[in-house]
Parts: sequence; structure tokens; C-alpha cells
Amino acid sequence: MSDRSVRELVLATRNDHKLREFAGMLPGWHVRPLPGHVELPPETGATFEENALGKARAAANTMNAPAIADDSGISAFALGGAPGVRSARYAGEEASDEENLAKLVDELAGHDDKRVEYVCAIAYVEPSGTERVFTGRCGGQITGELRGEGGFGYDPAVVPDDYADHRTMAELSQAEKDAISHRGRAARELLAWLESRGD
Ligand code: IMP
Repeated sequence: MSDRSVRELVLATRNDHKLREFAGMLPGWHVRPLPGHVELPPETGATFEENALGKARAAANTMNAPAIADDSGISAFALGGAPGVRSARYAGEEASDEENLAKLVDELAGHDDKRVEYVCAIAYVEPSGTERVFTGRCGGQITGELRGEGGFGYDPAVVPDDYADHRTMAELSQAEKDAISHRGRAARELLAWLESRGD
């Protein structure tokens, strides 16, 4: 049986927000949540790509179905790329999104260079062994003036370069965010590749 006959993907995440974002960004594909009993490996890799692959492999092998996983975060130029792969636990292992965001704004307060880059790696893994990774990026600037109710994580402090009106990522509609976001860009690469295989 070919894995490719199934237009269904398991998404290896525990984050409902990501499940909704991916479902919207992969039209024509049914994105299934990972059942609660499936264990995901810890995100201990040095790169977003490594972490995404680890999660997608675990999901594909346990579910015996094609799986995707993403790993993402934000890197500040003035901080040598931090928080990077440590974005989810920048202010501590159990830190909240608000605490992580506050720490990043604080760390950058003494720097003129406020440039940041969101990065997202999406791994696609089939039980048969096929593996691909797609990486998307979204550049912007950190503002200490937090604004907006949308998005999640660092979004209220990130002013993306792609829109000229200085709104933060949290002030964009979901469609506006998807059009420019690291995750949207990586997901479109994945979609184009899946469609190019004639699935
Ligand atoms: P992970 O990919 O689930 O490991 O999340 C990494 C971290 O980066 C989390 O703290 C998120 O809040 C942050 N992050 C990833 N993508 C975004 C985004 O689109 N907006 C805001 N924060 C993000």
C-alpha cells in the first residue's frame, strides 16, 4: 500500500492553536491531531529541523501513517540567535508565553538592533522512510509596546517587515499572518511538494 494514497496527515503536536493553523494552511488535506497516548521525544536538538524530524518520526512510526511536525521559534540578531530552539522555555522550563516574551523584550532593551526572525521547520515523514523538511522564515522588529489579541507566543511584540503599517503579528487577521508567517511559508512549500507528487 502506498502512503501517498492517503490525503491525511497526523500532526505531531499538543498545541491546538498549531492544529488550527495547519488545518487552514493545508487545504485538501485532513490534518489529524495526535492521540494523547503517543509519546513525543523531547525537543533537545540543536536545530529546528532536527527537533521537527524527531517528532514526525515518532508520530509516523507509532501511528503507521504519514505524519508532520513542526518546530519553531524566534531568533534575535543582537542576541546571537537566542532564544532560537529554546524559545518555548526561554524564561525557564515551565515559563508561560508572557514570561518568555517579557524576557526577550527585556534582553533587547539595551540594544539598538531590534531585528528578529521567526523560523519554522516542518518535517514530513512516512513509515516507509520518506523524509522531507521545509523551512520558512519571517523577519521583523521587536517592540516594547505590546499590541494585539491574535496569534500566540511572541506575536504581540513582533512587528513584521512584510506590512508597512507597523501592526504587530498579534494585530493581523489569521489570513494576513498565514500569508507572511514562517509557518505559512514552510506549509506552502510542503503543500507544493505534496501536490507535485500527484497525491
Ligand atoms: P514550538 O515550535 O512549539 O516548540 O514553539 C516554540 C516557541 O516559539 C513557542 O514559545 C512559541 O510561542 C514561539 N513561536 C513559534 N511560532 C510562533 C508564532 O507564530 N508566533 C509567536 N510565537 C511563536
